[in-house]
Amino acid sequence: MAVAVLIGLLLNLNRDEWFVAITFGVVIDADHLLAAPRYISDNGLGAIMRPSWDDASGLPWKSLFHEPVGAFFVVPLAIGWRYMVPFIFWGTHVAADELQMATLGQSAIIESVLLSVVVAGILYITYSRWSALSQEPSFQRFLTQSWAQARTWFSRLGASIRVP
Ligand SMILES: [Zn+2]
Repeated sequence: MAVAVLIGLLLNLNRDEWFVAITFGVVIDADHLLAAPRYISDNGLGAIMRPSWDDASGLPWKSLFHEPVGAFFVVPLAIGWRYMVPFIFWGTHVAADELQMATLGQSAIIESVLLSVVVAGILYITYSRWSALSQEPSFQRFLTQSWAQARTWFSRLGASIRVP
C-alpha cells in the first residue's frame, strides 16, 4: 500500500488512475481471502501470522494474478492508460511479493527498512508540495493540517456510508 502511494504521488495520478492503481497494486491481495478458510482449517488461526501461507500442501493460496503469468491478463488492460498504470502497480506488487518470498528469513528487517524509506519518501513529497503553497511552512503545521484533513475525509466517508 505504502509503495503504491509513493509511486502514485511520483506520477501525479488523477482520481481515476488512483482507483486503478490501488485496485491493481493493493486489492489484488483479496485473493488470499478465498484461500483463507481452507488454510486456517488445515493450519490453525495462528498460522495467519506466518511469513508465507505456502504450507507445502500444494494447494493454492494465491491466484494466477499473483504470478508473472498474470501479465497476459494485465498488459492488455493496461494499454491506453497513461504510464500503463494497471501494469506498473500490478508489476510492483508481484515484484514485492517475489522479493518477500526470496528473502523470507530476513523479511522482518527488509520490510521494516523498506517501509521506513517509503514512508519517509511519502512525507517528503507531500510536505514539499504543501510547503510550496503555504505562507509559513513548518513541519508541525503540515502535520496538524494533514491530521485535520484526514479527520474531515473520514467523517465524510462515514457519513456517506451511513444509510439515511
Ligand atoms: Zn500479494
